Amino acid sequence: MDVCLFCKIMEGEIPSAKVYEDENVFAFRDINPQAPTHILVIPKTHIPSMDALTPENIGAASACLLAIPKIAAQEGLMPGGYRVVSNCGPDAGQTVHHLHFHILGGKALGVGMA
Ligand code: AMP
Ligand code: ZN
Repeated sequence: MDVCLFCKIMEGEIPSAKVYEDENVFAFRDINPQAPTHILVIPKTHIPSMDALTPENIGAASACLLAIPKIAAQEGLMPGGYRVVSNCGPDAGQTVHHLHFHILGGKALGVGMA
């Protein structure tokens, strides 16, 4: 049985507001949005974080990167723009240990990163 929250979301065991899906990628709205548009983009392969990337699994992660501009276009985030964030480990505040990319946009975001 899967114990990973995002694997369960991807498999439909836990409901989510899906915005995009392809063979390798699943994307859904963050339950606690930090901007008018806040989407999480995850690989369908379980990878715990950026720190677990390898030559063998990089394809799953790069599929997310290719999906991000498609999702941004679908959400009308261009030409205004958007921010992409991936928290890795405790100092970054990673709370779900399945690699994910936050897409934040829909307003002029603050300039600070930390
Ligand atoms: P991070 O802190 O980078 O690990 O991000 C985890 C994100 O997952 C947070 O922004 C949470 O709001 C979000 N999140 C947690 N549970 C859910 C859920 N069931 N559906 C959608 N987003 C979630
Ligand atoms: Zn997972």
